[in-house]
Amino acid sequence: MKKVYLETFGCQMNVSDSERVATRLVADGFEITPHEAAADVVLINTCSVREKAEHKLYTRVGQIRNSEREKRGDEQIVGVLGCVAQLEGETLFEGKNEIDFVLGTKAVGRVSEAIENVFAGQKRYFDLGDREDNYDWSVSEVQRHLPYVAFVPIIEGCNKFCTYCIVPFSRGREKSLPASEIIRQVLNLRRQGVKEVHLIGQNVNSYRPKIDNGLEDFHGATAFSRLLRAVAATGIERIKFNTSFPRDFHPDIVDAINENKNLCNWVHLPVQSGSNDILRAMRRGHTIESYLQKIDKIKSSPRKLSLTTDVIIGFPDETDKDFQDTLKMADYCKFDSAYIFKYSPRPGTPAYSMIDNVSAEVKTDRFLEFEKLIRFNQRAVFRSYLDKTVEVLVEKISNKNSMELSGHTTCQKVVNFKGSSELLGKIVKVKISEAKTNTLYGEICCNL
Ligand code: SF4
Repeated sequence: MKKVYLETFGCQMNVSDSERVATRLVADGFEITPHEAAADVVLINTCSVREKAEHKLYTRVGQIRNSEREKRGDEQIVGVLGCVAQLEGETLFEGKNEIDFVLGTKAVGRVSEAIENVFAGQKRYFDLGDREDNYDWSVSEVQRHLPYVAFVPIIEGCNKFCTYCIVPFSRGREKSLPASEIIRQVLNLRRQGVKEVHLIGQNVNSYRPKIDNGLEDFHGATAFSRLLRAVAATGIERIKFNTSFPRDFHPDIVDAINENKNLCNWVHLPVQSGSNDILRAMRRGHTIESYLQKIDKIKSSPRKLSLTTDVIIGFPDETDKDFQDTLKMADYCKFDSAYIFKYSPRPGTPAYSMIDNVSAEVKTDRFLEFEKLIRFNQRAVFRSYLDKTVEVLVEKISNKNSMELSGHTTCQKVVNFKGSSELLGKIVKVKISEAKTNTLYGEICCNL
């Protein structure tokens, strides 16, 4: 039985793809190993969003090719999957260290075929083709990243073409899964004991399925909120969704959350900038005024929804005034937390041809000032949980302390507390006694 070691970089969608790759491989008679040295096949599922993705990939392939195993002369094949594979295709074979095959983002269902072809002697095998019609979206229990939490893709690709972003090129156009398939998966996961599903996609609220096998009509501006209600009706304990696109964020999404306790108290709504000039240059398709209207709706919920965002600092032509507008926006929104990125041009994106004219020093200064504001708000939000009792889905033994358990609240806060492994997979009440920057600590009160 051939052994496969699978390494994953990037977003939830890549993690989810890797789970299905592993599921497919095991079904086809391969064994997944956590040990690179023991593997006959090393697969790297790549991400192109971060800087110098291709360079990092070549470095990693170089490490594999210089491993003890390779030096002994044991055959080990290396396959590259994911976004870098899709974007670079055959050119990846031109690197100094040998890559045996390349599979694009939609070709991952044919991973076993690729491996078999390479073992059969085919050189430089690549497949950048489309997903097969009968692609199996399910993941076996053993291959899930966590036993009690599951990712369920509902839409892939993106039609938005923000000028800094490579995703529409690496993942293609938006394609929604039929609601009936999503509901079938969630019901299956519930039967398997999964407590929390994350409906995932680059823009989940742009969800517009083409066919729907007799379920309610999921077309129109509220298709996503109707999907949320349908998933809520499965009775699964918790539903989270990520990522939302501001322009397609219909207020009915907040109404759906308010109506259904199992729709969690968390919205991630990337804003990217507080300046309309910069939003226009980014081709985001929303203004700061329209964004703040959505924030007002989210904040008006009686449920105290947690709010997180993404911000890019130092986009081309960002002036001090633009940056001040971004600070003003963040001060108004009082985000629970934010992913902050310093702008850097990505080859292949429209913004790559713009002059990257905000100096590294200014980017760093603005980054630090923005981060200070975000952390200030974040500390206030985290401290507001002190002495309060929260419900935590116990997901795993803490990475840092084997005596502690770790899980998430409905509002996506990490909570650590002392407890025994029997609590894994349960939703428990924890009284919060300490608030650090990104983690809450407390003591268990009782099982729910
Ligand atoms: S909405 Fe914009 S940032 Fe998000 S994936 Fe699409 S192009 Fe990229």
